[in-house]
Amino acid sequence: MNDKRVHGKIQDPNKRINNFDEVELGFTHEEALMEANRCLQCKNPRCVTGCPVNIRIPEFIKCIKEDNVKGAYEVISEDSSLPSVCGRVCPQERQCEGSCIKGIKGDAISIGALERYVADEAIKNGYFEIKDVKKNGKKVAIVGSGPAGITCASELVKNGFDVTIYEVLHKTGGVLTYGIPEFRLPKEIVKKEVDNLIRLGVKIITDTPVGNQFTIEELRKEYDAVFLATGAGIPKFMGIEGENANQVFSANEILTRVNLMGSYKSEASTPVKKGHIAYVIGGGNVAMDAVRTLRRLGYEAHLMYRRGEEELPARRLEVSHAKEEGVIFDLLRNPVKILTDENNNVTGMEVIKMSLSDVGSDGRKNIEKIENSNYNVKCDMVVMALGTLPNHEALKESDIELSDKGLIVVDNTKTSLDNVYAGGDATSGSATVILAMEAGKNAAKEIKNNLLNIKE
Ligand code: FAD
Ligand code: SF4
Ligand code: SF4
Repeated sequence: MNDKRVHGKIQDPNKRINNFDEVELGFTHEEALMEANRCLQCKNPRCVTGCPVNIRIPEFIKCIKEDNVKGAYEVISEDSSLPSVCGRVCPQERQCEGSCIKGIKGDAISIGALERYVADEAIKNGYFEIKDVKKNGKKVAIVGSGPAGITCASELVKNGFDVTIYEVLHKTGGVLTYGIPEFRLPKEIVKKEVDNLIRLGVKIITDTPVGNQFTIEELRKEYDAVFLATGAGIPKFMGIEGENANQVFSANEILTRVNLMGSYKSEASTPVKKGHIAYVIGGGNVAMDAVRTLRRLGYEAHLMYRRGEEELPARRLEVSHAKEEGVIFDLLRNPVKILTDENNNVTGMEVIKMSLSDVGSDGRKNIEKIENSNYNVKCDMVVMALGTLPNHEALKESDIELSDKGLIVVDNTKTSLDNVYAGGDATSGSATVILAMEAGKNAAKEIKNNLLNIKE
C-alpha cells in the first residue's frame, strides 16, 4: 500500500521570488482527508508528548476523518490559542511529527499541515465560540503581545480574570507580526487569531512602552499580578571593523521595516532596496527569513555561514525553499572586515575560509579559521542574523533578578518579585513560538493557583 505523506501545493519558485504571498498553500479538503486517514489513532500517542502544549492530536485527526472539522477545531483550541500560526511555523519535525510512530519506518503524519487546515477552516467559517465566564474579580497586566503574552491572556480570561495587555508597538503579535515574513505567515492570520482574544474580553493597549510610560512597580500597585512577556528583540553584532557602515543592518531591522513599514515598496519612506548584492550572516531561521526577503526585493542574496550545510540550524524546509528561490549559500566562510568607501557605504567584505574539526563538548563540530585563506567579496548590504538578547526597557527602576546572560530569572514562571511572572524569549533567550506559548500557559496556571489559593 502506498503510504506516502500527502503534500499540499506550493507556489512556483520563479513566481514567488517576485511576491510576498504565502509559499505553502495548505491542504485542500481531499488532501486533508487523505492525510488524516494515514493516522493510526495510537492508544498511547507519542505525537502528543512531542507537542509542548499537548494538543490531543489523534482526537482532532479522528474528527477530520469523520468530516467534523468544527469538532477538530474545538479539540485543538482547548490547548492552543494560535493553531493557524503553529500549523505553519512550529518546528514540527522536532516536535509532534518528530515523535510520530509512523516516522520510524516511513513518513510521519503531517500534523502541522492538518492543524493549519482545521484552523484556517475555522477562521473561514467562524467556528470560534465565546463561552460565558464568571468573573473572579482579579486583574492581571501582561507586558508584550507575542505568543507568550497572547497565550497567558487567553488562558486567564477563560478563567474569569480581567486581563490587559500592554504592547510597545502599534501592532500586536510580537515576532509573529514584525519578524516572520508574510510569505511564511500571513499577517491577516495573526490578526484573526489575536482578534479572538479581544472577543474573549482581553484589553490590548498598543503604543505603550512599559518602563518608559510607567514602571512595573506602578503596574504591581494597580494589578493583582503582572506577566512579563517582552521577548528578546535586541540583535547581536560581530564586533568587526566596518560594522557601523551605512547599509549594515540587523535581520530584525530589515524584517521589521518590511513587515511593519511596507519597506518593500519603492514609494516607502524607508525603502530597503538600495543596491544589488546582499550578504546575510548566520544560519538560523531568522537568517533564512532575511535572505529570502532580500531575494524577493531583487537582490543577489547570499547566506554566509561559518559551518557547513549539515550544521545549519534553520529548518530543512526553509533551506530547501531558499535554494529553490536562488539564494546563494556561502558555507564555511566568515566575514572578518566590512569594506567601505569614503562615504562609509558598504562596498564589500573581507572573508576568511573555515574548516570543521572534531565534535566539541557542546556536541557541535569545532570550527577553525584556515590561515591565509582571506579574500574579498563585493556587496552593497550586509545583514547580521546572529541571535538576539532580551530588551530591558520594561524592567527600568525594578531590581528584578537577571542571569549573567541578561535573561529574567524564573522559578517555573515566578520572578524574584512578588506577583511578577515572566516567560517566553525574555526568560529563555530566542527560542520558538510554541515554547513561548507553553511558558504563557504555565504562567497562567501559576497566577491562577496563587491568586485563587488553589492547591494542586
Ligand atoms: P515576542 O514574540 O518577541 O513578543 C514580545 C513582545 O513584547 C513584542 O511585541 C514587543 O514589542 C513587546 N515588548 C517588548 N518590550 C516591551 C515593553 N517595554 N513594553 C511593552 N511591550 C514590550 N519560532 C518558531 O517556532 N518558528 C519559526 O519559524 C520562527 N521563525 C522566526 C523568525 C524570526 C525572524 C524571528 C525573529 C523569530 C522566529 N521564531 C520562530 C522565534 C519566535 O518567533 C519567538 O521565539 C517567539 O515569538 C517568542 O515569543 P515571546 O512572546 O516570548 O516574544
Ligand atoms: Fe505540532 Fe506545534 Fe501543533 Fe503542537 S502546536 S501539534 S508541536 S504543530
Ligand atoms: Fe497518529 Fe502518529 Fe499520533 Fe500515532 S503517533 S496517533 S500515527 S499522529
